[in-house]
Amino acid sequence: MTHTTAIAATSPSPLVSLRGIGKHYGSLTVLHDIHLDIQAGEFLAITGPSGSGKSTLLGILGLLERPSRGTHLISGVDAWSLSDAEQSRLRGSALGFVFQQFHLLPELTALDNVARPLRLNRRGGDWRAEAHRMLERVGLAHRAGHRPAQLSGGEQQRVAIARALIRRPQLLLADEPTGNLPPAMWGDILELFRELNTDGHTVVVVTHDPLVARRASRNIRMEGGVTERANGPSAE
Ligand code: ADP
Ligand code: MG
Repeated sequence: MTHTTAIAATSPSPLVSLRGIGKHYGSLTVLHDIHLDIQAGEFLAITGPSGSGKSTLLGILGLLERPSRGTHLISGVDAWSLSDAEQSRLRGSALGFVFQQFHLLPELTALDNVARPLRLNRRGGDWRAEAHRMLERVGLAHRAGHRPAQLSGGEQQRVAIARALIRRPQLLLADEPTGNLPPAMWGDILELFRELNTDGHTVVVVTHDPLVARRASRNIRMEGGVTERANGPSAE
């Protein structure tokens, strides 16, 4: 496999390396000079106040946002030297997202939303059974036939989590994945992420949940568009 369909697993480089990344929207600078290495297999938690640039940083990590400056390497390869087609193959095969806005397709049932990445990326396989198992894992098997408009915010969030996990992405990017869920459920979602991580997948989660942050292998705090270690003043 080339790095265009999967991130090279044996590369000596960090899985992701951000060098001097800045992002601005017009005159508004949202990210300042971010330097961040993420090693394969890490479970990284990002915390920080609203507006500090957490979602923008995840968008950059997911190749959804182009940085205004700096270099974004994926296994040592400049992500923005790839063609649009190579980038979208990477997004589709190696990266998984749980967005703050869930981006479920309104015309599809919960089951079909969860199964969609499987059906887009491979032929055959029992996608229906796999999607059903994943819905069970997030406690929503009984909602498989419902459309997003018939589900609560928390249920939609769980569908979005199931959809992101079903392909077992090499790099999972989750933006406040428990934000709409009752605290009683946070542990279950954390457990799903930890299982993926224990199997060697890299997890980056933006969270306000101290439990998630505590169980992560590393914590980063963002403040005003710069990253800091959670328990110290020095930058990454
Ligand atoms: P967080 O996720 O930490 O709350 P965001 O990354 O969503 O922060 O936003 C950081 C800042 O960037 C905010 O001030 C937000 O209003 C601004 N911002 C985010 N996206 C855009 C955009 N597309 N256009 C203009 N400003 C934006
Ligand atoms: Mg955000």
